[in-house]
Amino acid sequence: MLNCKQLTELATSYTEGALDPATSRSIEAHLATCQGCRTWLEQLALTARLVRSIPQPEVTAEARDASHSAYRPAIRSYPSATSFFGSTGTPAVNPTRGAG
Ligand SMILES: [Zn+2]
Repeated sequence: MLNCKQLTELATSYTEGALDPATSRSIEAHLATCQGCRTWLEQLALTARLVRSIPQPEVTAEARDASHSAYRPAIRSYPSATSFFGSTGTPAVNPTRGAG
């Protein structure tokens, strides 16, 4: 039988109906005996329902363009992961001495 930690790892897939029948039955067997996991799973499902019910804002083309214009200089000046970590995956900039 699943323990509580294993149940929490599978809970999202379970609530989405994405698990195989045997695993779903294991979860239901655990829920039948564990009030803590039943309460936790009810709260998880409620949170998912509430998040889905929040209306998505309409973004006009003007607002999108204004946002891109505002962020573009900051994004351009931000070091890419490659320039920060270098090709070896270690930081290319020595934090004690600065760049170069
Ligand atoms: Zn449990």
